[in-house]
Amino acid sequence: MKTLVWVEHDNQSLKDATLSAVTAAAKLGEVHLLVAGKGVDGVAQAAAAITGVGKVHVADDAAYEHFLAENVAPLIVSLMGTHDAVLFPATTTGKNIAPRVAAALDVMQISDILSVEGADTFTRPIYAGNAIATVQTSDKKLVITVRGTAFAKAAATGGSGTIEAVSGEGDKGLSTFAGAEIAKSERPELTSAKVIVSGGRALGSSEQFHAQIDPLADKLGAAVGASRAAVDAGYAPNDYQVGQTGKIVAPEVYVAIGISGAIQHLAGMKDSKTIIAINKDEDAPIFQVADIGLVGDLFKIVPELTEKL
Ligand SMILES: Cc1cc2nc3c(=O)[nH]c(=O)nc-3n(C[C@H](O)[C@H](O)[C@H](O)COP(=O)(O)OP(=O)(O)OC[C@H]3O[C@@H](n4cnc5c(N)ncnc54)[C@H](O)[C@@H]3O)c2cc1C
Repeated sequence: MKTLVWVEHDNQSLKDATLSAVTAAAKLGEVHLLVAGKGVDGVAQAAAAITGVGKVHVADDAAYEHFLAENVAPLIVSLMGTHDAVLFPATTTGKNIAPRVAAALDVMQISDILSVEGADTFTRPIYAGNAIATVQTSDKKLVITVRGTAFAKAAATGGSGTIEAVSGEGDKGLSTFAGAEIAKSERPELTSAKVIVSGGRALGSSEQFHAQIDPLADKLGAAVGASRAAVDAGYAPNDYQVGQTGKIVAPEVYVAIGISGAIQHLAGMKDSKTIIAINKDEDAPIFQVADIGLVGDLFKIVPELTEKL
């Protein structure tokens, strides 16, 4: 089987999420990549260096600079004559493009796979991760999104894929890019961080969120996450959200501060290796998944902990 992996990047560097998708694709067969963007020579070189990659298709065009699904999807569809499966990391952008490709190919999308059981069989979470479904498809072309935390990352170096320029239909004129507000941070990226410190509704304000969470995260070299309640209340930016409708993470250490442990939050972090919870309610559901639990007032415990570290 010939697979095509859509490469997640920012026109300058390749994002780690791609590497897990490459591992999943390698279980299906030959791995080709697609780098679509503007001024993406560096990304293409990095893509070709990934272990196991046979070919990198590069579409360098201003129409692909912002990864608008309306422009990128037809490009991918045009490559599906020679590929049997296309895989996307299950990231915001991957999840934006994949359904359009599936619809154009008139096939179902197989979302958020956790494992490859065979050429047409996959597992995926359902009911916010409380059950794992095994799904089998009879479609001739497969459109798949890959949960990054479920697959090891392919080695970023050691490969020697060939690079081939491709062109698509460019700007379809269906959408335009208006702007992006990207939170800039020196901290590690949430989905690839080894340690995450997350805050919940209990922080009470944006000021307290940053006053309590940031210093602890800095001491631990951690990324900062948040519950949806904290995001909805404006304590933390949207892209901090961990959970069913946020990011799926599985760091070595996840510190949940003032987070109750609602099922939708657990869906995004329960695969973390070690979970540390700080909550004043000893019956909070978060303690059912926590390896280490501290019962008490976060406004007392967190500064103390930060100071001792
Ligand atoms: C369709 C759907 C999707 C959702 N997706 C997500 C998602 O992706 N991510 C997500 O997080 N949620 C999600 N939710 C919301 C989820 O159901 C919860 O409402 C949310 O996670 C609660 O956030 P929280 O734990 O911060 O707040 P709360 O549930 O209000 O918990 C606050 C906790 O802080 C503790 N606390 C209070 N004061 C202190 C103190 N001084 N010291 C220590 N502890 C204290 C309390 O004991 C409590 O346990 C979703 C809901 C729905 C319906």
